Amino acid sequence: MCRLFTDLSEKIPANPEIVGFSFSWELDYTNLFALLEQLKIPLRAAERHDDHPLIFGGGSVLSANPEPYADFFDVILLGDGENLLDDFIDRYKEVRGENRAEKLRHLAQTEGIYIPNLYEVKYESPTGAIAAITPKFPDVPAAVHKQTYRGNTLSASTVVTEKAAWENIYMVEVVRSCPEMCRFCLASYVTLPFRTANLEKSLIPAIERGLKVTNRLGLLGASVTQHPEFEALLDYLSQPKYADVRLSIASVRTNTVTEKLAKTLAARDTRSITIAVESGSEKLREIVNKKLTNDEIITAAVNAKAGGLKAIKFYGMVGIPGEEPEDVDETIAMMLAVRKAAPGLRLTLGCSTFVPKAHTPFQWFGVNPTAKKRLQLLQKKLRSQGMEFRPESYNWSVIQGLLSRGDRVSLIYWN
Ligand code: SF4
Repeated sequence: MCRLFTDLSEKIPANPEIVGFSFSWELDYTNLFALLEQLKIPLRAAERHDDHPLIFGGGSVLSANPEPYADFFDVILLGDGENLLDDFIDRYKEVRGENRAEKLRHLAQTEGIYIPNLYEVKYESPTGAIAAITPKFPDVPAAVHKQTYRGNTLSASTVVTEKAAWENIYMVEVVRSCPEMCRFCLASYVTLPFRTANLEKSLIPAIERGLKVTNRLGLLGASVTQHPEFEALLDYLSQPKYADVRLSIASVRTNTVTEKLAKTLAARDTRSITIAVESGSEKLREIVNKKLTNDEIITAAVNAKAGGLKAIKFYGMVGIPGEEPEDVDETIAMMLAVRKAAPGLRLTLGCSTFVPKAHTPFQWFGVNPTAKKRLQLLQKKLRSQGMEFRPESYNWSVIQGLLSRGDRVSLIYWN
């Protein structure tokens, strides 16, 4: 078995038997095409024959909406990989010597395994809605159910290398999903229910294993600080034996940024934290179900500074359903208020455009075309105030929207 990092020009093993991809972002599809081209494998599943490897994919994006990618994968795994990946490999071994069609028919019998080519999609009209999706054979299930892992041992790095995007960091998953359920958030909805790693039985043993090979530790999860024993985890990591450990933490929930958290992070060589505020407008935060006030944002910044952190990166969006020009002004006002309350703290606003995600309550809203102008306005106003502003491309957000809510013909029409 071989694991590749797509951001490196690694030598790809010749003639693989199975090739798998994990998609956690819609635009990851470019990696799929690039690798298939390098391996000289036809891009479309229907054009592959018995000598070609099986191409499978999984991850939150494919679990939420596999259809735009359906023509390019032989097999798509829906849901958590823990049991599903083993089931897939076990079932595959049973038919390893069979031809491609037999293998796929056999795999289709397994819960959570979706074989797109075994389903026919009919449209009401050439550019209309889907009329029906029907299995092509009677033994192929009419519906494939996403699989949910119920254990309390979550994942951790199996490879720690200086070649990874996060150099030499041992990652340990602290929580999966998020109980906040902001109405746009795929990371929350598609991975529900909220699950936490058991501190004593799984998290600490995993951390101890990782810290034998590196001194860089990453705590992973959509809302790490909402682990019910997060304080105890911080105490554990504050022990003198871990004094040289460099700690990184995924985005933290604003009202969990205490001085203690900031001190622990600063003592472990973290200079900055990232907080998703979505907008400076409290009205918009109510619309998206983000339970957060501007006072809490300011308190978080004050605590971060008091604890010794040097910078905060806020993460926001424009084009949120219900957004008015005044809401964008409120984001600028919020940034100025934070600067006033915590002078000297380096402030950055990273900002994307709202993109509707499948299976979230906001899935039926489109990408707001005024978002492009609003990004430009934020850029002008914040940079003129000496604050860093990092916008994400509006045009790529439109493509992301197409992929997150599209169907089998989306990539074809777009290309
Ligand atoms: S708090 Fe963050 S991770 Fe949790 S639902 Fe909201 S946006 Fe998603």
